[in-house]
Amino acid sequence: MTKQTCGGMVALFRTVVGVSLVSGLLVMLLWSEQQVGVKTPAHIHFHAHARGIPEGGPNSQDAQDTAPDSSFQSLSVKFGAPRTVLSSHNITFLGNKTVEAGVTTSPGHHEATGQSSHVPAQASHAPDTTTSINGSKLVFTIDQSDPSPATPKIYVITPTYRRPEQVAELTRLAQTLMLVPNLHWLVVEDAVAPTRRVLSFLDTCSVPHTYLLEFVVANKPLINKCYVPYRQPPSLAGRQGMASRRYKGANKPRGVSNRNAGLKWLKGHAKEGIIYFADDDNTYDYRIFQEIRETKQVSMFPVGLVTRLGVSSPIVSGGKIIGFYDGWIAGRKFPVDMAGFAVNVKFYLKKNAPLMPYNVGFEEDGFLKALKIKPEEIEPLADNCTKILVWHTRTVKSLPALKMPDSDKVTKTNLNYLKSQMVFQLPYGLS
Ligand code: UDP
Ligand code: MN
Repeated sequence: MTKQTCGGMVALFRTVVGVSLVSGLLVMLLWSEQQVGVKTPAHIHFHAHARGIPEGGPNSQDAQDTAPDSSFQSLSVKFGAPRTVLSSHNITFLGNKTVEAGVTTSPGHHEATGQSSHVPAQASHAPDTTTSINGSKLVFTIDQSDPSPATPKIYVITPTYRRPEQVAELTRLAQTLMLVPNLHWLVVEDAVAPTRRVLSFLDTCSVPHTYLLEFVVANKPLINKCYVPYRQPPSLAGRQGMASRRYKGANKPRGVSNRNAGLKWLKGHAKEGIIYFADDDNTYDYRIFQEIRETKQVSMFPVGLVTRLGVSSPIVSGGKIIGFYDGWIAGRKFPVDMAGFAVNVKFYLKKNAPLMPYNVGFEEDGFLKALKIKPEEIEPLADNCTKILVWHTRTVKSLPALKMPDSDKVTKTNLNYLKSQMVFQLPYGLS
């Protein structure tokens, strides 16, 4: 073999090795991408659970988490019957409508309110901060301008319960609410006694708030200045046991008794304003509050990350709500998420201040039906439901922390202070 042939062989060998390495890498990449895209049954379980709906129930056929294969864009349907439920349980339309696919209304136009419902981010009178990094301009604009006295107050009802991530959730929510003027936050805890960490969190919370304990042990305020007693109706005591915290599980309504405690408080304390149910674990763009302030009776808007469809939203055409896009229609008249609507206080009181039913999956529907509003009267917000400004996010559950040792390293150091801010695993497996 000549030196040249030998050199050629080496080069060939190198090329072959190089090419196979690169293609191997490519195959690996493609494979891992596929793995990311694979939908396991576990995903499906997760999403069914995300609606607080048990797998297979309450109505097992309807509760199925339908894959979004019948894409909205591909629909062009004529409807004869009122409230036709479309295939895949995803879309429901109201009334006799001929509907062309897609949301046809133009973004940026508020037909429901007749005017722009909030000051756009670049509005001249909103205080803004402009900064520049490497020549690229970043603009942070927050509408903190004092609302006029006529501006209705927003009452945000947040059900919450003791768990390791509770204060983290409340912190995130509070720091969104801090951006909203003229708001009152009703933090309603589902517990037999207030959680100390929550009360101390509220002590330093600048958002105007009232803490409500959904279950009252004594007949008088327990500790805090913001504590307001609420007695559970005897009729519910049996169903609820000691506290609705005990009344939990996949097929139990979560946060209902606390929301109802908030509603009862409102009945006694508010004459006007807007009601909004904001779970502690969702994610809110502060602009959703500018939107809901315009609510005259009942308003609705899209909520992201709801079921496998990724969004739950009214379907809007010509500025009117003509149906609903939701992964779980289940015969509901109003197949919407808890975070997807707001109610005017005056309107609520006029309709005899109904409470939310203890009916898993049907809490929103039952409440909205009790308000006796016609679907066509509902005000679509977020630019005719073209914007997602709230998401039904869910936090990965953290286990309660293991006990800290009682040694000097804890009791005589900063660790002792951290202790009071954590949720520990209790003995006997309780938490
Ligand atoms: N919640 C409550 N008590 C419970 C479970 C939940 O007060 O036993 C509250 C919770 O803090 C949240 C709302 O009810 O604000 C909805 O609960 P969760 O987020 O667990 O339900 P999902 O959004 O998964 O349906
Ligand atoms: Mn949630």
